[in-house]
Amino acid sequence: MTRIPGESLLAAGPSDDGLSGGPTIGVLALQGDVLEHLRLLRAAGARAVAVKRTGELDRLDGLVIPGGESTTIGKLAAMYGLLDPLRQRLREGMPAFGTCAGAILLARRALHADGRPAEQPLLGAMDIVVRRNAFGRQIASFEADLDVLGLTGEPLHAVFIRAPWIEEHGPSVNVLAKVGTPLGDKVVVARQGNLLASAFHPELTDDGRLHALFVDLVREAATV
Ligand code: GLN
Repeated sequence: MTRIPGESLLAAGPSDDGLSGGPTIGVLALQGDVLEHLRLLRAAGARAVAVKRTGELDRLDGLVIPGGESTTIGKLAAMYGLLDPLRQRLREGMPAFGTCAGAILLARRALHADGRPAEQPLLGAMDIVVRRNAFGRQIASFEADLDVLGLTGEPLHAVFIRAPWIEEHGPSVNVLAKVGTPLGDKVVVARQGNLLASAFHPELTDDGRLHALFVDLVREAATV
């Protein structure tokens, strides 16, 4: 059996899955900041569980796909037989929040930084085309304060790590935030119905507003 680093930490027992009564939200535990996502989801009132097996998908009301390396996550998802079950659940309308590499996984198409098509397994749930590592070598990682549509209060402090941006999107996609670059403003948060994508890592700050937005969206989806 393939072991995943930190697996024992992630085992979800009845006492560690957050508040009962909230929606059950899985964090895809193949790579990335799984514990940080669990923490912010729980703080927003969700029952949050780490998932990595197909059988664990059925009970989920929503899913977070963390950042990392989208090719690696895609390969691991294929290895675990998760790609088609995930695509199926997303087609059926399961809400999902993809962050950084997770946003790439949600996209219908990915491009390399130079614009060449990136051949890699994707879930293809969102009508977005993402450009990987889009911000270039000099500013590969940076932080920025973003005005995010739907969030009240202070701008959201966002940590970008070899981040993609959303290069194109279909008409059913709402742009929630952009960041200024020398090439103009680029889309870094988008929503399409129950699907949310951020180009940065919202789990790396203590600001849980984007996770709370997602938990609200999952709650609404679960009650219709
Ligand atoms: N550069 C990564 C990719 O293209 C994404 C980086 C991240 O998730 N922090 O998959």
